[in-house]
Amino acid sequence: MLKVGLTGGIGSGKSTVAKVLQAKGITLVDADKIAREVVQPGELALQEVAEAFGSDILLADGNLDRTSLKQRIFSDPLAKTQLESILHPRIRQRILERVEEATDTPYVVADIPLLVENNYPQYFDRVIVVDCPEEIQIARVQARDEMSKAQILNIMASQATRKDRNAAATDIIDNSGDLASLKMQIEKLHESLLSLL
Ligand code: ATP
Repeated sequence: MLKVGLTGGIGSGKSTVAKVLQAKGITLVDADKIAREVVQPGELALQEVAEAFGSDILLADGNLDRTSLKQRIFSDPLAKTQLESILHPRIRQRILERVEEATDTPYVVADIPLLVENNYPQYFDRVIVVDCPEEIQIARVQARDEMSKAQILNIMASQATRKDRNAAATDIIDNSGDLASLKMQIEKLHESLLSLL
């Protein structure tokens, strides 16, 4: 099975690209979705988080109290590191399992926002980076979410630089244009991936 990683900075257009490919029948592994999955009630990771941070971070119904957990790690870098050391290996393992398990699809795509930062490129045959200038990223995120420019810049500063991310790509999608231009590039890339099979 051809394994394709998909990444890009905040608001670059990853989810948009992923949806178009999914609509073509391509199996999608969504890292953000898996990150939420591993802390569902009954999951070992949630149990470990509760053991580490106390049952205060659980709601009465057993779900993770995200607001409470966010407050705990907000001003405590050690707690943040501890939380990440519980969650990251499980998220990683599950992403790679889902990629390995994919069947009935010409190729499998994994949408991983921190693909470059977290050293995933080695697992993939192709790495697609969705790229656009930073001002466009900021404008699109502001149009989508209620986030201040400072918050967006903070997230961008915590991500790989545009240069480093693009350097990890086997294929770059230029999403500085309109949606029609994006779709044309996806179509072309899809055909070129199919031709590799
Ligand atoms: P995040 O990392 O924040 O989850 P993302 O990389 O998945 O973001 P999308 O959610 O796909 O990015 O795109 C960001 C926003 O920009 C969305 O509201 C999307 O509809 C819009 N968008 C994406 N591409 C274009 C485009 N070419 N023209 C106009 N709007 C676009």
